[in-house]
This record gives sequence, structure tokens and C-alpha cells, in this order.
Amino acid sequence: MTDFDQDAVLAELDEKAMELRAKLAELTAPVDAETVIGFGKRIGDGTTQAIQQMGDASIAQSLAGTLDQVERAREKALDGTWGRCDVCQEPIPEGRLSFRPWSTTCVDYAD
Ligand SMILES: [Zn+2]
Repeated sequence: MTDFDQDAVLAELDEKAMELRAKLAELTAPVDAETVIGFGKRIGDGTTQAIQQMGDASIAQSLAGTLDQVERAREKALDGTWGRCDVCQEPIPEGRLSFRPWSTTCVDYAD
């Protein structure tokens, strides 16, 4: 049973995920090109390490955290539990959902 517009929610979440991935790519791209090779690290290892080293670390971490939430919310949209709290199963207030469609918990359990 779904009591929300699944297509609209998925479209909104996909758009947000794309925006977050683009921002993350922007934050990490210059590092891949120069710093990583300079330190002789493998690209895969270097990316995470480089993010931590940058002044943008907290921004990148926050973006990645939001992206996790967006992906979780997408799962919830697909299985019909979108709009309900992951912790207490109560409906998430509409105002919170319209502001952050990727909310997966009610305000009581917000991180
Ligand atoms: Zn809750």
C-alpha cells in the first residue's frame, strides 16, 4: 500500500542524488588529478584519504551522508514505506517531508 505519489517522490530523490553526486565529484575531482598521483597512491584509496585531508572534508562528509539518506529514502519509496519513520514506524510529518523528501526518520530520531 502506498499513500504517496511514488513516481513524483522517486523523481525528486533521483534529482537530489544527482545534485549530490555532482557536488561530491566537484569536491574530489581536482585531487584525483594531481595530489593522488603525487603521493603515489592508488586512485581508489586516495579519494577517501584526500577528501579527509581537504578543508572541504566536512562538506563532503555531509553530502555523502545526505546521499546515503537519499538512497535509503529511494528504497523506502520502492517498498512503500516512504513517509514512515525507520525507527518508530510512525508517519513523518508532512512539513518535514516536503522540506526533506529523503527524511527516513521522524524529528525525534533525526540525526
Ligand atoms: Zn520515529
